Amino acid sequence: MQDAGELLKSVFGFDAFRPGQAEIVEAVSQGRDVLAILPTGGGKSLCFQMPALMREGVTVVISPLIALMRDQVRALKAAGVEAGALTSGNTEEETDEVYRAANEGRLRLLYIAPERLASAGTFNFLRRIGTSLIAVDEAHCVSQWGHDFRPDYLKIGELRAALDLPVAAFTATADAETRDEIVARLFGGRTPEVFLRGFDRPNLALAFKVKDQPRQQILSFALARKGQSGIVYCGTRAKTESLAAALEGAGLTAAAYHAGLDAERRREVERRFQTEDGLIVVATVAFGMGVDKPDIRWVAQADLPKSIEAYYQEIGRAGRDGLPADTLTLYGPDDIRFRRQQIDEGLAPLDRKRADHARLNALLGLAEALGCRRQVLLGYFGENPEPCGNCDLCAKPPELFDATEPVRMALSACLRTEERFGVGHLVDVLVGRRTEKVTQWNHDALPTFGVGKARSTREWQAIFRQMMARDLVRPDPERHGALVMTEIARPVLRGEESVTFRKDALGRQKPDPVVRAMIDDEDAPLLAALKAKRRALAEAQGVPAYVVFTDRTLIEMAQKRPDSLDAMAGISGVGAAKLERYAGAFLEVILGEAPPAEHPARRKLAGRAEGQIYDRLLEAQVELMRGPDGLDKPLSCPGSLLRRLAEAGPEQMPRLLDERRMERFGPRFLEILREG
Ligand code: ADP
Ligand code: ZN
Repeated sequence: MQDAGELLKSVFGFDAFRPGQAEIVEAVSQGRDVLAILPTGGGKSLCFQMPALMREGVTVVISPLIALMRDQVRALKAAGVEAGALTSGNTEEETDEVYRAANEGRLRLLYIAPERLASAGTFNFLRRIGTSLIAVDEAHCVSQWGHDFRPDYLKIGELRAALDLPVAAFTATADAETRDEIVARLFGGRTPEVFLRGFDRPNLALAFKVKDQPRQQILSFALARKGQSGIVYCGTRAKTESLAAALEGAGLTAAAYHAGLDAERRREVERRFQTEDGLIVVATVAFGMGVDKPDIRWVAQADLPKSIEAYYQEIGRAGRDGLPADTLTLYGPDDIRFRRQQIDEGLAPLDRKRADHARLNALLGLAEALGCRRQVLLGYFGENPEPCGNCDLCAKPPELFDATEPVRMALSACLRTEERFGVGHLVDVLVGRRTEKVTQWNHDALPTFGVGKARSTREWQAIFRQMMARDLVRPDPERHGALVMTEIARPVLRGEESVTFRKDALGRQKPDPVVRAMIDDEDAPLLAALKAKRRALAEAQGVPAYVVFTDRTLIEMAQKRPDSLDAMAGISGVGAAKLERYAGAFLEVILGEAPPAEHPARRKLAGRAEGQIYDRLLEAQVELMRGPDGLDKPLSCPGSLLRRLAEAGPEQMPRLLDERRMERFGPRFLEILREG
């Protein structure tokens, strides 16, 4: 079995495992059954790709997302790994090539769509080509109650039983029920080792803002990040179109994306997003399932998502490369009304609706959090971290106030008007405004009329919004959104519980904090040049830019400015295959000229200790070319021989050198090889 650390560097170009990866790779490579729960961006693909290279035979990877499979296959091939995919998206040649590689025993990873498992010949085929491990991506698709259920995933259990193979299953879904279901359906009674990695994504900056000229809010957020790839999620299709146009109008590059566009147009946007630097996709939730772009630098939610899970999944698409990424979520009372209504009017059974309201409440609790947002978010997933220092509330803690009294006034206004009115009218009553509607209903005669006149309309709106977010009042679906008091509010009304709210910043928009630069000004021009080179190479090969090198790798290059292949090999993300293929081109950008030519044999040793030995052997050889006194007939060694010597060590030298070379170079070479 090949050493894991060495593989990590030579194939994937990484210096270290991410947290959790090492243990999972070890368990999977030893053929143990594994269920790993890793947050998006945690680096789960590596957890089955490495074991696939460490084990004999073929690893079958089952994944529901064709686009994602194709990306991974491309990335693996770029790293010099034999991988293929069998999906409905294949061309005939692609399929032929996969079969050929499989039949010749070259194939290491075979990605297949779950539908394939239903066809008769598949099990036999997989047995015949020597499948030795089943890796299941997005394993929660086996859960019948989840929203991503794929009936064909149930066939995986049969495959496991028929071929008697270990299973490594991966998901980012945290809840215990889904986990149990995965174990029951995929592992057929065997108990897998479970790896549960923390859900924190510390590189994601979290921020929420109350909607106040929301289009302007999104525009300024995007403008502050001009040139970076980002996604804006919207609640409706129409809004994706209008917002994309507005962004374009502001001089940014943007494209709308939603399920109403034809398939070709959607694919075109996906393709552009993968290959272009700095495109903004303005999308509905339809965008994302297949997006495997590690360098998305920001995500903005122009409307409130439907649950805390949906929130985290969407913002989680940013910054999968681990570099800083920004997120912003806008919300307001209309969002709360809309989401509640959506749940109430849905067809789900009552239990489910109750659960959906609870998940929405969790998100609203996050929106109206009184302290560090990450604590609230991770608290929901069962974790208990310290304040993060990377959210808007850590940056600027909100001013709080005891809202018990005004909340009781507001509740009383609801009740005395028979829970038949919305925020606007209730605020009129509280501040004592004699509108037509107020006089028409005689609400100016109520004892609550004008009791809240010490506060402005804006303040009252903020109080009602927070009451809705805390689920103290809910819009009634049968009465056009009239606010109804909930059970949670009863103790507050009775004076048994108090409530703390945030003093709102509504109306006084803070300027956006300055966006952190990922790189010093000094290195920025080089980074831009490296990116341009990357784009040219990616376009020439028709692959996404990050398949050539990730942002992280280019940033490190711009900072460290490697000046030789050896130095290049030390950059994170530069494995052997990419060194051979791309390093020269990028060195040329850094050095401003073509790098000195190196013998192909020496190139193969770049970044390794053997490279230094090769250099010393070469030096000695040049000295001794005409013998010790410089009078003999010239004699030299081919580069490939020097490389073999450097790799094989002193014991093998007699086998590698012929008599004449042994005589001339032997003693000196031996010294060098012994020194190592
Ligand atoms: P996910 O868990 O969401 O499937 P991926 O497997 O796509 O995550 O990995 C996310 C990103 O992290 C990819 O760009 C991948 O190359 C990178 N990555 C994974 N493991 C490491 C590592 N050990 N060191 C550096 N980068 C890594
Ligand atoms: Zn925080």
